[in-house]
Amino acid sequence: MLRSFLLYLSNQSWLRHWVETSSITGKVTSRFVAGSTLEQEIAVIRGLEAENIQATLDCLGENVSSPKEAEASRDAYLRGLDQIAAQGMHSTVSIKLTQFGLDLSEELCKQNVEALVARAKAIGSRVEIDMESSEYIDRTLTIVREMHDKYGCVRAVIQAYLFRSEADVEDLCRRGIPVRLCKGAYKESSKIAFAAKTEVDAAFNRLMNRLLDAGTYPAIASHDERMIELALEHVRKNNIRAERFEFQMLYGIRRDLQRRLVKDGFRMRLYVPYGNAWYPYFMRRLAERPANVVFLARNLLRS
Ligand SMILES: Cc1cc2nc3c(=O)[nH]c(=O)nc-3n(C[C@H](O)[C@H](O)[C@H](O)COP(=O)(O)OP(=O)(O)OC[C@H]3O[C@@H](n4cnc5c(N)ncnc54)[C@H](O)[C@@H]3O)c2cc1C
Repeated sequence: MLRSFLLYLSNQSWLRHWVETSSITGKVTSRFVAGSTLEQEIAVIRGLEAENIQATLDCLGENVSSPKEAEASRDAYLRGLDQIAAQGMHSTVSIKLTQFGLDLSEELCKQNVEALVARAKAIGSRVEIDMESSEYIDRTLTIVREMHDKYGCVRAVIQAYLFRSEADVEDLCRRGIPVRLCKGAYKESSKIAFAAKTEVDAAFNRLMNRLLDAGTYPAIASHDERMIELALEHVRKNNIRAERFEFQMLYGIRRDLQRRLVKDGFRMRLYVPYGNAWYPYFMRRLAERPANVVFLARNLLRS
C-alpha cells in the first residue's frame, strides 16, 4: 500500500515542484544525492575511488519536454565524462533515455545518446542505460543493441520483476552485452510483473546465476543481503573469479555491506546521483524501504 502510494506521488508534478524548491528538504536528500553541482559529484567519486570503490555518475533528471532540454542533459553528461577523463577516474555514467528525449523522438534520443557513447569510448569509459517503466523497454533495448554494435561500451539494465526478463537476458548474453541486474523500481501491472517479494527474489536469483555463468561482466545491483549471499555461494561453487563481475549499490544505502564486500576482494560500483531534479529518484528510494519515510519525517521535524 505505502509503496504504491509513494510511487504514485513520485509522478505528481505539483508536489515535485514544492518539494524540490523547499529549503528544508535539501538536508534530507544529501543522504542519497552527492550534491547539486558536478564539482560536488566529482569530489564524492574521488573519495569513493580512494576507498577502492568505483562509481557510475548520474545527472538526475527524466522525461524532458523539449529537444533543448534533452540536449542540455546530453551536454551535462559530456561535461561529466570530461571530468572523469581529466581526473583519471574509473567512473562510468548512467543515463535515462527519457532524459535524452525518448518521449519526443527516438531518432533525436539516439543522436544524443550516440554523442555520449562515442565520447565514453574515446576515454575508455562506459554508458549504463537505466531501465525505466515498461512502456520504454523495447525502445531502450533497441538503442542499447545499436550502440553496442557500433561502440561496444554500453551496459543494459534488466529488471527481475518482469516476466519478459528471462528472454531479454538470453538475448543480451548471446550478443555479449553487459547487463546490470536489479529487482525493478517502478509500479507495474500484475499482468507483466511479479508482485510478491518472494517471487521477485526467486526471479532475481535465477537471472543472476544465468548472468554469472553466461553473461559479459554482469553487475549484480542489490542491497539485499540474501541475494548477495546467494551470488557469493554461486561464484564460489563455480569458481567464478572476482574480476568477472561487479556488485552495484546506490550511494548512501547499506554502506556497511558495500565496505565489507570491497574488503573481501569484490568489485563494487556505486550509483552516485547529483543535480536539482532529485524528486522522482528520492521518492522511489522511499518506496523501497518504509523505514526511510520515518528517517525523512524525523529530519523534517528537526529542521
Ligand atoms: C546500482 C543500481 C542501479 C539501479 N538501476 C535501476 C534501473 O535502471 N531501473 C530500475 O527499475 N531500478 C533500478 N535500481 C533499483 C532497484 O530496481 C531496486 O528498486 C532497489 O535496488 C531495491 O531493491 P534491492 O535489490 O536492494 O532489494 P529490496 O528487497 O528492495 O531490499 C533489500 C534490503 O536492502 C535495503 N534497501 C533496499 N532499498 C533501500 C533503500 N531505498 N533505502 C535503504 N535501504 C534499502 C534494505 O535493508 C532492504 O531490506 C537500481 C539499483 C541499484 C542498486
